[in-house]
Amino acid sequence: MLLRHTPETLVERSALTVNPAKTCQPVGAMYAALGIHKCMPHSHGSQGCCAYHRSALTRHYKDPIMATTSSFTEGASVFGGQANILEAFANIFNLYDPDIVAVHTTCLSETIGDDLPQIINKAITENKIPPGKTVIAASTPSFKGSHITGYSNMVSAMIKYFARNTGKKNGCVNLIPTFIEPSDMAEIKHIAESMGAKYIMFPDTSDVVNGPMDGKFRMYPKGGATKEEIASSGDSILTIGLGRTGTLEPAKLLDTHCKVPAEIIDLPIGITATDEFVDLIRKTAGVSVPEEILLERGQLVDVLCDMNQYTYGKKASLVGDPDILVGLVRLCREAGMEILHVVSGTKAGPKFERKIKELAGEKTIVKTGAQADMFYFHQLVKNDKPDLILGNTYCKYIARDMDIPLVRTGFPIYDRVGHSYFPIVGYRGGLRLLEKILDALMDRIDRDASEEKVELVM
Ligand code: SF4
Repeated sequence: MLLRHTPETLVERSALTVNPAKTCQPVGAMYAALGIHKCMPHSHGSQGCCAYHRSALTRHYKDPIMATTSSFTEGASVFGGQANILEAFANIFNLYDPDIVAVHTTCLSETIGDDLPQIINKAITENKIPPGKTVIAASTPSFKGSHITGYSNMVSAMIKYFARNTGKKNGCVNLIPTFIEPSDMAEIKHIAESMGAKYIMFPDTSDVVNGPMDGKFRMYPKGGATKEEIASSGDSILTIGLGRTGTLEPAKLLDTHCKVPAEIIDLPIGITATDEFVDLIRKTAGVSVPEEILLERGQLVDVLCDMNQYTYGKKASLVGDPDILVGLVRLCREAGMEILHVVSGTKAGPKFERKIKELAGEKTIVKTGAQADMFYFHQLVKNDKPDLILGNTYCKYIARDMDIPLVRTGFPIYDRVGHSYFPIVGYRGGLRLLEKILDALMDRIDRDASEEKVELVM
């Protein structure tokens, strides 16, 4: 069976990663860029990099992901990619007519040392960028960081290039989500809108990578934050960063750049994290919590109480991206579950570890960074078998090897659908996540029950 060879004995490693629990920076940068309206993500590197980033997102969203590339060959790899990208700008604006091109670098262009701000200035001077169009750029070397770092760097680039403080406040709250699904972004907007808050959310991939099939091809779907909205974020009253790892840097930059104060809170997964988000919106925007939101909260509380006997004391092992992991731990703990392991390929620092231990207890094993890989996660699971795994598609081999139910969460999910359309954030998202956890645990009970113990009513 696949991965049966993974040994149980844990050995401390410092220079080797086996099956990383993350993907490369440009994947996150490309995803963030799709959250700007009429924006073409551009990969400054070889076709192979761009093909990989696009296919990772296309497989996850089951929708074609548009992006262009500087198409490095041997010459560009030695002498730099300036000539390639200048030609690319002309082609992109002629052929695809975006309002914005969002360039991210790759391992190769970073290693050569291409200076993108200088190249963009040259393109402006030489009139390679048509009037009214903008090129923005983020440095996303993938020999460090992860897709979360890349996402965060591209959001910072949006702020750097667009956000302006005009001196006149707009009464809005900025909402910057970490790398989450379009369905989750839609749910965050649903909460803010139901409460009547004025907000600006960016990036916003809802209605972009989860669009409908109506027989028409749209190079630029209707969703995405406009550049006017992002510009106006510099006049907002507060920035709420949802998920520390993915939003701290952009939120800090907006504070430095435009003097918009920032509050970074956990991604609203589960009751208390969503309560914190709702309460912060309520206080900042001076609005009240409507019946609709109270109803959604009450339904989640109801199911948590009704089904507690199936989740209480169940052991879970989690792998994924830091911000989602914090939210998952919060919801699992609210359901009375024990958390055995929390692993992320994205380095998240001591604050993350402290937070998880505060939520889950000192005994929980927490590891992040390059050596916190799928191989290590499998070893942990072999040493202390959980009742449930929460993680992305790559966990299926471990789940199969160990015969443990898997609830697919995070990125990427290549072998199931639903994540683009149904959220896991907010009260409604919490309900869906709880349903998935209960389905996995209760299917297991049904499957393992002897003939005379199969229950009709559970
Ligand atoms: S070479 Fe670097 S940027 Fe390109 S796909 Fe590989 S890790 Fe990503």
